Amino acid sequence: MPTMIRLAIQKSGRLSEDSLNLIRECGISFVASSYKLKTEATNFPLEILYLRDDDIPGYVQDGVADLGIVGQNVLVEAGYPALEIQALGFSKCRLSLAVPRAAAYDSVADLQGMNIATSYPAILGKYLTERGVQANLHTISGSVEIAPSIGLAEAICDIVSSGSTLLGNGLREVETVFRSEAVLIAHENLSAEKRELLEQLLFRMQAVRRARR
Ligand code: ATP
Ligand code: ZN
Repeated sequence: MPTMIRLAIQKSGRLSEDSLNLIRECGISFVASSYKLKTEATNFPLEILYLRDDDIPGYVQDGVADLGIVGQNVLVEAGYPALEIQALGFSKCRLSLAVPRAAAYDSVADLQGMNIATSYPAILGKYLTERGVQANLHTISGSVEIAPSIGLAEAICDIVSSGSTLLGNGLREVETVFRSEAVLIAHENLSAEKRELLEQLLFRMQAVRRARR
């Protein structure tokens, strides 16, 4: 059987459309379907897997998928930053700390001993440790920004793009913890045939980026 390379992308979410567009702009044709879990391209030996973004780093680390497109926030939180091979320039966002609008806040030292709700305990924990701050991190997977108003935490760390969700929950952004964009990741021990396919894909992606500028 001829070699195929397997690329994992987010099934449905903020990365999906730009990931599919990038593949198409690389001249690769496929029939996308919203209910299927995988698709084969018709003019390139590529198979696309549709997954939750949180599962993509682990699948690429294990070699279940050869390649993946995921946010650096999810990649670094999963503990596999070394899988990154190329930043893709879309889905830019930041992870920020926020406190209630009326709370006093001068510096990160004010978070000492506080309860902080986040979906990113690894990234936030490292950030605080590097600054000598000890806090109690409460890991919750969604609706982090309501934690202060229900008494679960005195601060939060979450993804911010415009800031309107923070404002709507009576919070203000006080520190940027991490800046993120979508990245292409690859399994570390690809076969020679798959490495050759990856080189071809990278070459096409570079051409797409040059054309977009
Ligand atoms: P899934 O169901 O796959 O787990 P999710 O709800 O965890 O999806 P999304 O909200 O679709 O994830 O976000 C996917 C990624 O897009 C985030 O991890 C981040 O890298 C990026 N992202 C999140 N929010 C924004 C935003 N407001 N603007 C730009 N990029 C964002
Ligand atoms: Zn997710």
